[in-house]
Amino acid sequence: MRMRKQRSRDTKPEVAVRRLLHSAGLRFRLHRHIPGMNRSTIDIAFPGPHVAVFIDGCFWHGCPEHATFPKANSAFWREKIDKNALRDTRTTAHLEALGWTVLRFWEHEAPEYVAAQVVAVLRPWKAQGALTSYPRIRSSSSSAPCPLGQAAAPRQA
Ligand SMILES: [Zn+2]
Repeated sequence: MRMRKQRSRDTKPEVAVRRLLHSAGLRFRLHRHIPGMNRSTIDIAFPGPHVAVFIDGCFWHGCPEHATFPKANSAFWREKIDKNALRDTRTTAHLEALGWTVLRFWEHEAPEYVAAQVVAVLRPWKAQGALTSYPRIRSSSSSAPCPLGQAAAPRQA
């Protein structure tokens, strides 16, 4: 395990969770900006039901099981990670005040477990089709040839 991994988007556990949610038929937005908070985004957002999912990195967010502080500059790291944790708490409170349900997970948690929790929370909305029915985008002037004999259509002389 690499503890000093840079904080980044699209971490492996996050991508795995996204894949599972997608194959469960859920649709969502990624890295959605949080209204009223600069520099903070929701990892996986369900804007309709107002459900926000965060997959927090163990090192950067101070996971109690895995956040070991590097010996060198330990005070520096401690402060940085404490700050992140504080920001996480604020972000959660901010979103909840706006009517969002906030689900936070550690990156060490099994993607299958995380996805199952999210699916369970979203079940009522999914039952209404609110998370899967998106209008299909279709060009009205279809120029693509139809395999079933569109070629036989009359041509303009
Ligand atoms: Zn952890």
